[in-house]
Amino acid sequence: MLINLSELLKSEIGSVLEAKIKIPPQKLGEEISLAQPLVGEAKLIKQAKGVLVHFNLSGVLKLLCFRCNNNFLKKIKIKFDQNYVWPKGSENVSFEEEQEEGFLIKPDNMLDPWPAIRQEIILSQPMKILCKPSCKGLCPVCGKDLNKGSCKHIKS
Ligand SMILES: [Zn+2]
Ligand SMILES: [Zn+2]
Repeated sequence: MLINLSELLKSEIGSVLEAKIKIPPQKLGEEISLAQPLVGEAKLIKQAKGVLVHFNLSGVLKLLCFRCNNNFLKKIKIKFDQNYVWPKGSENVSFEEEQEEGFLIKPDNMLDPWPAIRQEIILSQPMKILCKPSCKGLCPVCGKDLNKGSCKHIKS
C-alpha cells in the first residue's frame, strides 16, 4: 500500500495527515510472517525536509520456534516513529547539507510504509525466537518434540 503525500506537500510545515494502514498477510523471513492483516493508523507530520510518521499498528505474527521447530501465533502491537525525506534534488526542498538517514519518499510523492514496518517487526523479535521460554526443543537423536513428552534418549 502507498500513502499519497501530494496534499500534505502543499500544506504548511507541521500539518498532519492521518492514514489508515492495512498490510496483507505475508512472509517477512524464514521464521516470521504476518498471520493476519496488520492494521492501524499512521499520523504523518510535515517537516522541512520530509515527513515524520507515527505508526500505531497491531496484528498477529506466525513465528517459527528456534528450539522445537513448531509454528505458533503471537499478537503484536507496534508503535514507532519514522522519518521520511524527499529525494535529493526534489523541487520542493533544497538540500545544502548531506541528506540524513531516513527512508525516501518516492518521486511521485508516494510513501511506502511497508519497508519501515517490516524492519520494525523484525527488530522487535529476538534473534532466537522461542514458542515459550521453557520450550524443551527436540531430541537431538530421534527428533521427538520433548514438549509433548520424553523419549528413550532424554527423560524429562
Ligand atoms: Zn518451541
Ligand atoms: Zn530421542
